[in-house]
Amino acid sequence: MSIDIQFLGAVGTVTGSQFLVTAGDRRVLIDCGMFQGAPEEVRRNRIPFEFEPGELDAALLTHAHLDHCGRLPALVKGGYHGPIFATAGTTDLAEIVLRDAAKLQQEAEARWRRRHPDQAAAHHAELRDEQAMVEAGEAMPDRLRAAEPTGATETRAALYDERDVDQTARQFRDVRYGEMVEVTPGVHATFHDAGHILGSAIIELRISDGREETTVVFSGDLGRGNTPILRDPARLSHADHVVVESTYGDRDHADHEKAIEDLVQAVAEVAGGGGVMLVPAFAIGRTQELVWVLDDLVRDGRIPRLPLYLDSPMASRASDVYLRHTDYYDAETAALLRSGDSPLEYPGQAYTNSVEDSKAIRTAERPLIVVASSGMLTGGRIMHHLKDFLPDQACTLLFIGYQGEGTLGRHLQTGGRTARIDGQEIEVRCRIRTISGFSAHADEDELVAWLSGFTRGDGAPQRAFVVHGDPGPAAALAERVRRELGLEADVPRYRETVRLR
Ligand SMILES: [Zn+2]
Repeated sequence: MSIDIQFLGAVGTVTGSQFLVTAGDRRVLIDCGMFQGAPEEVRRNRIPFEFEPGELDAALLTHAHLDHCGRLPALVKGGYHGPIFATAGTTDLAEIVLRDAAKLQQEAEARWRRRHPDQAAAHHAELRDEQAMVEAGEAMPDRLRAAEPTGATETRAALYDERDVDQTARQFRDVRYGEMVEVTPGVHATFHDAGHILGSAIIELRISDGREETTVVFSGDLGRGNTPILRDPARLSHADHVVVESTYGDRDHADHEKAIEDLVQAVAEVAGGGGVMLVPAFAIGRTQELVWVLDDLVRDGRIPRLPLYLDSPMASRASDVYLRHTDYYDAETAALLRSGDSPLEYPGQAYTNSVEDSKAIRTAERPLIVVASSGMLTGGRIMHHLKDFLPDQACTLLFIGYQGEGTLGRHLQTGGRTARIDGQEIEVRCRIRTISGFSAHADEDELVAWLSGFTRGDGAPQRAFVVHGDPGPAAALAERVRRELGLEADVPRYRETVRLR
């Protein structure tokens, strides 16, 4: 029996994860994520699936971030009726993420239709043109390409609606960490803790035709050791092939203690100047960890207790899921919980659920801290805060997560002095800071250390595929893996198929 893997996303970029494994007549999909960030990336979401969704036997989901689960409802809408395997933490979070995604897309489409009432036909023709170009691998024409990152990522035509999300949720099958499940005859999967966000998993796939067994391990997004709330990523020791992420394949993070010191200093600066600290953060994972750290620092008297606004309805719902799944916590957080502290809450934190409350933050008493999504400044609540706070010298824009190439976040992080938001040119006068030590992704050394677990003894993999990285980091990690671990390591191309057996 032959086994093939096809790389349908998260190659040459950090979004759109999607890998198809074909074993004989069985087809299993690992992740089905949304492309995000630069406009030309977002447009890839419109490319039809490479396979007939109805012919898929099983879908497996590593974790609930949109760039891993965001196209699942489109898969279901396209005719996939089979099971979607994931941990219970992931299915709970994914439902929140997908509902939000459906709502945003429907709103964007409605807005577009209001602005262009007579252009429905032209609109569809344009969509077809764009799609054909994307499929042909041609560059986007200039009129479709933003001159500079604007944060605008509307797809205009919604890929799916909330009913598709309802149906997707009905197809979820919860699995436990460490439990081996048969996902389709001849293919078994074991989910191991990836320590990235609640419920996140490394997936170990065993494919057998009764005579020979092949193991393929997918790292998913790999977390870091010694971070708050979650356990460290599981170390595996056997695989024939490993598909590994490389978000930070060319960089080492500052250690956690240095990150804490930088955060203490950033808070002190804003507190002293009576300003606002604006933190873009993914609603799921980053926000909960940051609250954990701020709560810890207030308790220890290392930072003053500034008002904290959690400006994301999705973060608020995600925090409820975190509170329900205490069995996923590491020993430290479990102990805090037993001692009566509520480690996922900051004293007096305020969730701003309505848009009016969110906009009212601009006139609230300062100093204060706002945590809002999206994490890479590609849309969402953070955009109106940027208009208010970027021109203000008393404010700090603090990055704690990865900023993908082509995003407004990357533009500002790398010294952009102006930003175009909603067609308006905004001058940047606030402080821009980056703290890398809070990352939810393993750094270069940690990725290599995780991979080295496979090379001891007789379990050495034949090959590593380096995915989920911008081109520089992916190439750097592949090179280091070849040099230090002596493994064959490749950076696959978009839509490339590789025979594994
Ligand atoms: Zn992730």
